[in-house]
Amino acid sequence: MIDHLPDRLDLLATAEAGRLLRGSMPLVRLERVLPALKSSKGELQIELELGKGPDGTRFMAGTIRGAVELQCQRCLDTMGLPLNLEFRLGIVQDHADAQRLHESYEPLVVGSEPTVIAEIVADEVLLALPLVPAHADDGRCHEFVKDYQPPQSAKRENPFAMLAGLKQKP
Ligand SMILES: [Zn+2]
Repeated sequence: MIDHLPDRLDLLATAEAGRLLRGSMPLVRLERVLPALKSSKGELQIELELGKGPDGTRFMAGTIRGAVELQCQRCLDTMGLPLNLEFRLGIVQDHADAQRLHESYEPLVVGSEPTVIAEIVADEVLLALPLVPAHADDGRCHEFVKDYQPPQSAKRENPFAMLAGLKQKP
């Protein structure tokens, strides 16, 4: 049985019972991701499977599909980034349990309060965003920067690396 995606969920209890959740998540709900995006329009398709692994690990395996719009740091125009993310989290209650997890799981430490699903999605999307977004093909950047030649000795990304770091701070 496939259920709709709730806002909050008791992950440990749900994994214990086993459940498949599917739904869409508007980008505007991903508050921590928004500063990195050029547009907050659109939504992501989320699928989450909660269950127990063979070793008793309670897990959440998920996929995130969709696209976001970033600002190319070379031409400052919009660039679309398709997202097709898969993740597998081991749900634990403290850091000691996290260290005992099999390496095939990324630890997700949960408290006594239900977990906000949008926070987990935001974490996964942030991990997937490039530090310095730029069109893969220079030809897609604006005409006026096509003629710009960076100094031979300097890496193209260098001038923007610091900028991108600043922007990602909350
Ligand atoms: Zn560009």
